[in-house]
Amino acid sequence: MAEKIVRDTTKKSAPAAKPAEKAAPAAKQAAETVKKTANKQQTVITPNKPTGGSTVGLRIGACVLWLLAIACEVLAIMVLMEYFIPPFNAMTFLIIAIVLDMALAIIAAQLWKKANHIKPMSEKRGKFLFYLWNELGVIMACICFIPLIILLLKNDKLDKRTKTITAIVAVVALLITGAASADYDPITAEEKQQAEQQISDDVFWTQFGHKYHLNADEEGGCPYIRSSSTLYKGSVTEAIEAGRTAICSYCAGHYAQEMGLDLDQLNVEGGVVEEGD
Ligand SMILES: [Zn+2]
Repeated sequence: MAEKIVRDTTKKSAPAAKPAEKAAPAAKQAAETVKKTANKQQTVITPNKPTGGSTVGLRIGACVLWLLAIACEVLAIMVLMEYFIPPFNAMTFLIIAIVLDMALAIIAAQLWKKANHIKPMSEKRGKFLFYLWNELGVIMACICFIPLIILLLKNDKLDKRTKTITAIVAVVALLITGAASADYDPITAEEKQQAEQQISDDVFWTQFGHKYHLNADEEGGCPYIRSSSTLYKGSVTEAIEAGRTAICSYCAGHYAQEMGLDLDQLNVEGGVVEEGD
């Protein structure tokens, strides 16, 4: 069970600590306990959601949403081709269809990424398939917008203003959807298994960070999370499912030294670490 810890870090500099309720937007279905000591407030949230289960539901959900996104695109194309006359202003109709297309495609990609972090693909399938599978969201973003953009640019039935504005909206929607759908930290099944075998203790991650950390002690812990007022705590499996697929290089270095491991045995990527948030 992942926990959320809100620490009061006002004494150390940094921006003022966020109130516990504000820092816990995703905690609707969670049990919450607040412990108060003389100079420290700590909020620990334990989500009820089970992890490591089947990913079939997430993948079906993603595919249904992508189909609905494509349906929005098809509807917009039908308006362009004058197969369908919208009940109100064509430009407004097209923009609504594009925004819906974008929202559906982005949500679909988040479900897909979540499924890939719960059940990653084995590296034995080859790099090309691994890339296609993990970046399916980007491919789908292209399918959801590029045909529409091409037809918009080639269209000579719309007036110039409608055509220009709609084309700009569609290009921006494509860029936003692509950026939000990419998996910047994909993980292989082997990497996940290795991390789970090597690290049995709970790990920590921050609200916006991309890595997980091993030591959150205020004294002697990882310097990259020392100033973070909100920390999540859970198993390596939970950290990976939350999208934190690699260990922070600082924590990895210390852990490898302590356990007599080779750094290659830990999934350290890039070596770029986050700052506290
Ligand atoms: Zn660290």
